[in-house]
Amino acid sequence: MTDTSRRNLLVGAGGLAAAAAIMAESRPAAAQAGPQPIFAVPATTIPIVGEPSVFPVRRIYCIGRNYAAHAIERGSDPTREPPFFFQKATDAIQNVAVGEVADHPYPSLTKNYHHEVELVAALKSGGTNIPVESALDHVYGYALGLDMTRRDLQNGMAAEKKPWEIGKSFDHAAVIGPIHPVAKVGHFTKGAISLAVNGTVRQNSDLTKMIWSVAEQIAKLSEAFELKAGDIIYSGTPENVGPVVKGDVLLCKLEGLPDMSIRIA
Ligand code: MN
Repeated sequence: MTDTSRRNLLVGAGGLAAAAAIMAESRPAAAQAGPQPIFAVPATTIPIVGEPSVFPVRRIYCIGRNYAAHAIERGSDPTREPPFFFQKATDAIQNVAVGEVADHPYPSLTKNYHHEVELVAALKSGGTNIPVESALDHVYGYALGLDMTRRDLQNGMAAEKKPWEIGKSFDHAAVIGPIHPVAKVGHFTKGAISLAVNGTVRQNSDLTKMIWSVAEQIAKLSEAFELKAGDIIYSGTPENVGPVVKGDVLLCKLEGLPDMSIRIA
């Protein structure tokens, strides 16, 4: 029965007050289309430098073993094998503001918690089978990130030929600085990238040493998944990943972006 027919029926029966009550009751439902969520789930967003708006995160993709020296230290062949990808849960994002030293909780279950400093590309659009030549057109901006890893869990699961998601996708595992729009900082195809722990440099490389460029990563990823606005891509870490413990202060640097720092808490 429609609201109008119900009202007419009630009015016809002399139930004017009842009709008014039903109309008032049904108004909010009529204003919202379809069934409503039973509760709200917070959206994951990343601040954008110099903008009042924030970047909404749809998916977090990560590329594995994208620097030859890191591929070797992880026990694989650094020749140009196709890149491989994994995902982290969207709400694993931990935003770190410029200038702060953010407390990062040491996660449960691990005794070998590793840092991986990485360039992150944030997409404003996507598609499938994106050509390398136009891939960078989809990039909105870049950020400095940490692909934090429960290495013992990752290795243990890998040894048993089980999915190693538990080593990579957990709360706060996707640490990230604010996004810098391409319009202001350009594209990142070269430049020093480093990570220091308590003032001692541990990782130190250059983006030119990536086996697969950001453009190539986007092209390859889009063969497997339809990329969309809001997707971000952690582009792999250079060699000398290693453990951190509570109290350690990590300082990440990428030429052309402000530093990013966390303290393991
Ligand atoms: Mn990584």
